[in-house]
Amino acid sequence: MVDKMDKIVALAKRRGFIFPGSELYGGLANTYDYGPVGAELLRNIKNLWWETFIHRRTDIVGLDASLISHQKVWEASGHTTGFSDVLIDCKECKHRIRADHLIEDYLGEHEQKIDEFIELFTSVPHSADIDPERIKTGIANKKVEGLTLLEVETILNHLKIPCPNCGKFAWTTPRKFNLLFPVHLGIVMGDQALAYLRGETAQGMFVNFENVVNSTRVRLPFGIAQLGKSFRNEVTLGNSVFRTIEFEQGEIEYFFDPESESWEKLFDSWKESMWHFVVHSLGIREENIRWRVHTDDERSFYSKRTEDLEYNFPFGFKELWGLAYRTDYDLKQHIKHSGKELFIVDPKTNKKITPHVIEPAVGINRLFLMVLSDAYYEEGERVVLRIAPRIAPFKVAVFPLLANKEELVTKAKGIFETLRVQIPCMFDDRGNIGKRYLYQDEIGTPWCVTVDFDSLEDGTVTVRDRDTTEQVRLPIAELFSYFSKKLSQ
Ligand code: ATP
Repeated sequence: MVDKMDKIVALAKRRGFIFPGSELYGGLANTYDYGPVGAELLRNIKNLWWETFIHRRTDIVGLDASLISHQKVWEASGHTTGFSDVLIDCKECKHRIRADHLIEDYLGEHEQKIDEFIELFTSVPHSADIDPERIKTGIANKKVEGLTLLEVETILNHLKIPCPNCGKFAWTTPRKFNLLFPVHLGIVMGDQALAYLRGETAQGMFVNFENVVNSTRVRLPFGIAQLGKSFRNEVTLGNSVFRTIEFEQGEIEYFFDPESESWEKLFDSWKESMWHFVVHSLGIREENIRWRVHTDDERSFYSKRTEDLEYNFPFGFKELWGLAYRTDYDLKQHIKHSGKELFIVDPKTNKKITPHVIEPAVGINRLFLMVLSDAYYEEGERVVLRIAPRIAPFKVAVFPLLANKEELVTKAKGIFETLRVQIPCMFDDRGNIGKRYLYQDEIGTPWCVTVDFDSLEDGTVTVRDRDTTEQVRLPIAELFSYFSKKLSQ
């Protein structure tokens, strides 16, 4: 399966979906650039998310907050103290890694030995400072996020997990490492000038809660949504754009009064909306997604329930989209730290309400990688990306059968110019027709139109379908309505 990931990464580079960041200067770890085809796909996914959750709903409004924010925002949210990962370094080869990722990957690769690990662990005495039950649950669930430094160290020592880079077992003591990127504003460095690049988009919604309530017509329950970049100082390498230091998030804070709405019902309806978006809007195979409920140790103390929608990436089931009931924790934190009241007035009762919130938070780049993985097929000689037509980078490619026949080229260019006003299209007259089909298959273009000598006589063209490779003959005048109908299906 790892092989499939290598193939997707190679295709993504070859066809202009994703390039390694700063490649000309030897690369910069965990950064990527989106090429001409990838930029289109990324934009289509973002537009569909925005259209689905903001434009098509009457209860959610959009926001576009600043990427750099006051240090107090991140103190109030708990990120300056709590937003940290446990890191270890290999003393032999200096490889740095997140301890939870190392342990979870190791357990995933040794699943058949998990009972043995737990039995071994139970058979020896341990320090009074650790909770053996938490460790056992962590090992059994292959989820060790939320364990203490000592508990993480105990697991590492107990399982003797070697360095994935050099194979030696020589780890430093685990330590915490904050994920926020500090930025120093102004010319004079100092505490006053310290701000942070946002580690999530969500705080923008809480900080602007009062502004949105006062400037719009919202009534509970309602959501504030945002699509934009977040930054985290991630050290785990690999798996393309799955985990990067700069990434795009689509987050919604859905505010409600727990006295009038059942959070369980809202939570379930968000689960349905997220599932529907992935399966029906992005066209992902249902058997490749699943829900995973967070364990008590993993879940933040203020959250009543957290579930992750996971996708079966070539490197295993991993988090795609988190859903958390965060109570009124965030607004209350900002009330405490800013000294201001944050509430909405119920027009019927005049009661001031500081609402609770349910937060669906997705990484757009993870949606992008999921779309590539799910769409990737090898069929004999050809590689085809069966991307759902509504998000495919280009919908139609128009070719003249022969590049050196001027009448064919002129006719094909005319069709291309007419179609491209309304449908994202590409014109191609390089190489032979077979090669052009292969290229379009690899960038996921659903239909190719070929102009041949008959087209000059009878005004018809060949339309070839990416998925079936079947060809139909259609009048040029009907092309637009044919593709529009297909795209709206
Ligand atoms: P993980 O456990 O994988 O680090 P997380 O639980 O920290 O993710 P959240 O804080 O819940 O992630 O962020 C919401 C969403 O943002 C995630 O579901 C994921 O899709 C995306 N995301 C988080 N960190 C990254 C990253 N470094 N690169 C790309 N996407 C990310």
